[in-house]
Amino acid sequence: MTTPVKPSGKSQSKSKKVTTSLSKLEDSSLAQRVQRHVNHGLGRDKYDKQELFQALALSVKEKMLQRWRTTRQADSQFERKQVAYLSLEFLMGRAMGNAVMNLDLLQETQELLKAYAVELEELEQVEHDAGLGNGGLGRLAACFLDSCASLDLSVTGYGIRYEYGMFAQKLVDGFQVERPDRWLREGNPWEVRVSEHNVIVPFFGHTSSYVDPNGRRNVVWLDTQDVLAVAYDMPVPGYKNDRVNTLRLWKSEATDDFDLEEFNQGDYTEAVARKNMAEQITMVLYPNDASENGKELRLRQQYFLSSASLQDLLNNWVRQHGTDFSDFAKFNVMQLNDTHPSIAIPELMRLLIDEYFLEWDQAWQVVSQTMAYTNHTLLPEALERWSVRMLEHMLPRILEIIFEINARYLDLVAHQWPGDEQKLAAMSIIEEGNEPHVRMAYLAIVASFSVNGVAGLHSKLLTSGLFKDFYQLWPHKFNNKTNGVTPRRWLANCNPQLASLLTKRLGNDWVTDLSHLNALNAFTDDKGFIKEWQQVKQNNKAVLQQLIKAECDVDFDTNMLFDVQVKRIHEYKRQLLNILHVIHLYHQIQQGNTSNMVPRCVLIGGKAAPGYAMAKLIIKLASNVAHMVNSDPSVTPFLRVAFLPNYNVSAMEKICPATDLSEQISTAGKEASGTGNMKFMMNGAVTIGTLDGANVEMLEEVGEDNFFLFGLTAEQVMQQRQDYRPQHFIDASPALNEVLTLIDSGHFSLLEPGIFSPLITAITSCDDPWMTAADFESYRLSQEHVAKVYKNQTAWTQMSIRNTAASGRFSSDVTIAKYRDEIWKA
Ligand SMILES: *Cc1c(COP(=O)(O)O)cnc(C)c1O
Repeated sequence: MTTPVKPSGKSQSKSKKVTTSLSKLEDSSLAQRVQRHVNHGLGRDKYDKQELFQALALSVKEKMLQRWRTTRQADSQFERKQVAYLSLEFLMGRAMGNAVMNLDLLQETQELLKAYAVELEELEQVEHDAGLGNGGLGRLAACFLDSCASLDLSVTGYGIRYEYGMFAQKLVDGFQVERPDRWLREGNPWEVRVSEHNVIVPFFGHTSSYVDPNGRRNVVWLDTQDVLAVAYDMPVPGYKNDRVNTLRLWKSEATDDFDLEEFNQGDYTEAVARKNMAEQITMVLYPNDASENGKELRLRQQYFLSSASLQDLLNNWVRQHGTDFSDFAKFNVMQLNDTHPSIAIPELMRLLIDEYFLEWDQAWQVVSQTMAYTNHTLLPEALERWSVRMLEHMLPRILEIIFEINARYLDLVAHQWPGDEQKLAAMSIIEEGNEPHVRMAYLAIVASFSVNGVAGLHSKLLTSGLFKDFYQLWPHKFNNKTNGVTPRRWLANCNPQLASLLTKRLGNDWVTDLSHLNALNAFTDDKGFIKEWQQVKQNNKAVLQQLIKAECDVDFDTNMLFDVQVKRIHEYKRQLLNILHVIHLYHQIQQGNTSNMVPRCVLIGGKAAPGYAMAKLIIKLASNVAHMVNSDPSVTPFLRVAFLPNYNVSAMEKICPATDLSEQISTAGKEASGTGNMKFMMNGAVTIGTLDGANVEMLEEVGEDNFFLFGLTAEQVMQQRQDYRPQHFIDASPALNEVLTLIDSGHFSLLEPGIFSPLITAITSCDDPWMTAADFESYRLSQEHVAKVYKNQTAWTQMSIRNTAASGRFSSDVTIAKYRDEIWKA
């Protein structure tokens, strides 16, 4: 049923031949290769940029093949720990710029492209983003892969090859409209389909047990509907170090044999329908960021990824070590990116017990020493729970194992808190009720040897709140790993002008050791350096200005302050607070109160989950406000506003180098870490923010004088929530009062009366968990402070330099070094 599809001898000898011819190919230059692909692939004299891009990408991939093979061989020869990073999302973005830089092919590429009269930068623009993720969680996985390869770690990313990634966002009359993202339309030149790693994943059916001749009770999972998992590998090159790791993405396909059976019964249409069902699994990414969704297809994706990846790991192990798993945990570790792949826990138990005949305790030893869980959120709506009924139907054997894990674990709880029935119910993996559910976070904690949060504050809130009971039981499991971002993509590659200024002053070592940026503090009084720094920012702002003109038809002015908030649209991230402030400025300008004002361009961007009505309404408000502001010539000298559609990785690569002020204004205690905040900081933006997530640590690094802090603390938020009276804050703030009155009057919705009333209702509700009204006045004052500092361009630039200088700790290299030393022990 789950026997791996073995490579036939024939295909092995064939792959050997391929190897010989490939290594010959690898001797040829990049230019020869591109020439060959252009000639062969296209076979005609005319080619467009997309075709030339494909030719270059195929050529760069060929350059990686030898190192890719060497890396694989070396990792399997030497007894070193292998890390599997399991994630439903990898938000990779474009690959070309990163590959060319990491492989040190920049000059060669630029040189060869002269023959085709095209700039590398132009070619890069035609690559489709690999948008296989929603936001921060998926982008973190992508940054981690780059850091792992660059730190020479043997880490494989396991994910899903969604046919359709994150939807493309358009705006129609200010409303978000979703369009399918057919990112594979032109083919994916980076991927390699490797069918020798095919495995089969079972669904549905039922279980049965029998006692074998040795007296062991064995369980079999029968009458399953099997789905074929096919591996597509993407190369992950380290930064100039010869390592090429693998991102293995699974595609679901129909197995031939179950089709055949139905064909024989003459049930042709049923067979074709089943084939579609199998192929549906990896068709589309669920576009919900930080909210669970309970859909059956989502659970199928999770199990499909988990089972395929584990079978792959076990096949690798058995090939080298046979079926003795006593050392498995010494050489393998699995990092679960949130609970999304946590069904891997009972699946590994199943494979070891049912397929390899380990005893329960032996299997549990293996599982509980290899699984490590990263929690990404405290928001209750994001905690995954699967109904017992759905599991029973789809994965009956898995549910049995979950029940057994729970029973044994509850014995431990009962021992710890004798007679405490309430504790037992509260801590059970099974949430009872009319519709019992499996709490996946609890399952993950129980089975993992490590549970980490993603910023200091977040990890502290986990152990003092959400997972308090578990912390009492197993304090040693809990740890913090503050997120980071890769300085290759987010500084060296996206901001070449700043990168070369840094290198000119500091040498090139910062690219692999970002703490070197600290040395910038020596130049904060160097007038020449300040000038150069300003010029770089100015040039980057001009690039963004063009993008905004092209995408939004809004004229940004590079002499104005660029004030930016880009991230998924969510109430907790409080884009609404930002828009209220924009309306306040607008109102002040109309009143003629412009004496202390600094002209600003406010940019907002981000996608709303398609079913999230409030988030979509926030986009509509931003659009309408932008329209009113930009069409009033008395306002535009002081204020311009744009909502940039389709925010994605490639957009961020243009946005963060051009930003003066980075908006990180979530309700304290709600943003687990944030990583957008770090990208901005690296690129010399100054942050206006709350004491939330990694902002806390950013402030610690850069100092209060270089950070615009405002708002309630997480503790104060929890206090205030007990007895929250938004009206009290509205009465105390004439500014907020005016803003709400203006929205309520229909000023921004003349043709759509009342459309924004749900927003007013939310802000004025005593149940508003985001406490927008409570933080408004403090935010407004902080923004006044921003304006005051910005007027002194030298002072502002010094702040900017100090932010970049202090950003070294937020390199994902630092984060991954900690995962390596403290969790993976690799
Ligand atoms: C970095 C990044 C994010 C995460 O942003 P936050 O501000 O931390 O929420 C989301 N989407 C994209 C495209 C990113 O590059």
